[in-house]
Amino acid sequence: MTAHETLKKYYGYDEFRPLQEEIIQCILDKKDVLVLMPTGGGKSLCFQIPALLLDGTCIVISPLISLMKDQVDSLKANGIAAEFLNSTQSFAEQQEILEACYRGEVGLLYVSPEKLLTDLDVISNMAKPSMLAIDEAHCISSWGHDFRPEYTKLGYLREKFSHIPFVALTATADKITRKDISKQLNLKDPKVFISSFDRKNLSLEVRIGIKPKEKINEIADFIIKRPNQNGIIYCLSRKACEDISDKLRNFGIDANYYHAGMAAEDRSKIQEDFINDKLQVVCATIAFGMGIDKSNVRWVIHYNLPKNMEGYYQEIGRAGRDGLPSETMLYYNYQDLLMLNKFALEGGQADLNLEKLNRIQHYAEADSCRRKILLNYFSETLEENCGNCDVCKSPRKHFDGTLITQKALSAIARMDEKEGVTMLIDVLRGSRKAEILAAGYDKLKTHGAGSDIHQSDWQRYLMQLLNVGVLELAYDENFALKITPKGKDILFGRSKIELTVLPAILPKEKPEVEKRIRATKPSVPLEDLFTILRKLRQEFAQKEQVPAYIIFSDATLQAMVNAKPTNQFEMLQVSGVGEHKYHKYGQAFLDAIDDYLETPSSKKRKGDTYQETHTLFNQRLSPDEIAVKRSISTQTVYSHLAYLYLRGKITNLNELVSSTEVAEVEKAIKIIGATTAMKPIFEYLNEQVSYPKIRLAMAVIEKKSA
Ligand code: ADP
Ligand code: ZN
Repeated sequence: MTAHETLKKYYGYDEFRPLQEEIIQCILDKKDVLVLMPTGGGKSLCFQIPALLLDGTCIVISPLISLMKDQVDSLKANGIAAEFLNSTQSFAEQQEILEACYRGEVGLLYVSPEKLLTDLDVISNMAKPSMLAIDEAHCISSWGHDFRPEYTKLGYLREKFSHIPFVALTATADKITRKDISKQLNLKDPKVFISSFDRKNLSLEVRIGIKPKEKINEIADFIIKRPNQNGIIYCLSRKACEDISDKLRNFGIDANYYHAGMAAEDRSKIQEDFINDKLQVVCATIAFGMGIDKSNVRWVIHYNLPKNMEGYYQEIGRAGRDGLPSETMLYYNYQDLLMLNKFALEGGQADLNLEKLNRIQHYAEADSCRRKILLNYFSETLEENCGNCDVCKSPRKHFDGTLITQKALSAIARMDEKEGVTMLIDVLRGSRKAEILAAGYDKLKTHGAGSDIHQSDWQRYLMQLLNVGVLELAYDENFALKITPKGKDILFGRSKIELTVLPAILPKEKPEVEKRIRATKPSVPLEDLFTILRKLRQEFAQKEQVPAYIIFSDATLQAMVNAKPTNQFEMLQVSGVGEHKYHKYGQAFLDAIDDYLETPSSKKRKGDTYQETHTLFNQRLSPDEIAVKRSISTQTVYSHLAYLYLRGKITNLNELVSSTEVAEVEKAIKIIGATTAMKPIFEYLNEQVSYPKIRLAMAVIEKKSA
């Protein structure tokens, strides 16, 4: 079997993603490789397919027991023999698995690094390793963000298994870690594959200066408009997680919280429920998400500005691993900045932390395509604007902000650069608070000079000024505002400054949001079918005690909704439906789709088109004539005829395919093995039976066997 055939047969996918095929070829050529792909990029296939094609067992080293089980369940769901070994299993269980390996019945064996190293001899004698895959390989590097000391001992394996390929995989992009991985693992002249880290399916949006109460309302509204979609809200503190979750529950939203301060069992319950689609929303600190592979997280919200770009990118990356459009939203305001500045100063490496905070602040304030800035941070360049971030969707407008900037700078100067943002705004707006009177700030010329600008708008202008370096925060002086040389030039009229029109005062902000919501939602009848299929998937998931996305991913359900397959052949064309899954679930999903198409409310989108073909067929038009008359392809007409035949609407196809031809196709299938692709049959029959005839013959065979 070729790599491509394996892809279709087991995974039900038609095409490799970029680099997958090259990586697989390299491994089959017994070369070491290092794979860098973003989360959701499709790393797993890169070692799983060679594992299926090589003799022996592929040993997969993976750091997290929870992920191991998930991966093994996914593989088994596709009919691939995989097992894992770890300390949670009894000796007898482990023995059984090793014996199965010895009998050559296990294609992939997942182990933790500790397990592999303690039982190295037993494992290598029993399993006959065909290759070694080191997942999450950045764990070996102390430069990385997730260093695990037990990984470092893996370096010695390269010597021991000198004749098999090693494959290291990671989603960590930075150069130092990358070099270190290859060095620490002693990889032999590895071929390095780096795919783009751009996740086009994630939309990017930043909302600046929204007050807490409005923020909760907005988020609740967002979630309520997406009833079937799971998402994560990242919060800065444990308390915030709990608060936000409570508030959302008051809106009737199925939310809960997750943070490191909870008992382990409570945490795993939340995680399980989320993975199994039994909990819609998790409010979490960054601790959540490490151990999960859930592919259908549809949105991620950051309730506050994250500490740095690395964390932000990793967290939004947990959305949309299945490749379907997914939304990300970042809320950012001045209080976040103060709090994060404090954190940055408290931890070690204050300079580095502040610099990193600076970069994400810059991203949040961006005036140009956000994705460009994001990728740029990870040393990648994007030629075109992405079209999928809020800046691209509503380009920013600018105005001459010299005057209002001068008002702010003048007030700061007159307060001797001793005050912070809150005091400054109060003075500009002409407040008569006791503190202001006590300091005599009510006597300043600028007192009340900015009363026409709303308090929150002032905040946002000041954030722009901080971001462009007109102002600075003195961290060591209680965050007093200082005027930079660039600011002095503006204050003294030596230069001008452009400010960005605040997004809220851009026209049509609300409709834009609504439009976007509409755009991501399929039309009503289509969504109904999606919900039906989702429920069916949930039934199987419950019965088999695996997460729903292991049965079929959201992407696969969506593909079914789009294609509305009505027979085995069409179902197997759907991306993500491999042979094993077809045999287990195919009929149930076909029946559900069939029921849906039969209900009057579905508008019989597909039923109508079959009916038209049927009518013309009854008028004794040939398939070619029907195609011309209906302006559809002949191929489609044949597919309709097969459908009608399978449902008993057409009683025989004798005029289009002879019984001899059917017999030949049947024989070919017996010899080639059950297949859904017509090409091997066509080739086996020396190209003597045309594709349309093969198509109809397959329908006849299917009906006979049903
Ligand atoms: P990673 O390990 O890089 O985070 P995965 O290997 O889990 O990513 O793949 C992410 C998702 O993409 C999975 O649902 C997987 O089945 C799917 N996928 C991988 N390769 C392909 C492909 N060639 N065509 C379609 N879907 C794919
Ligand atoms: Zn953009």
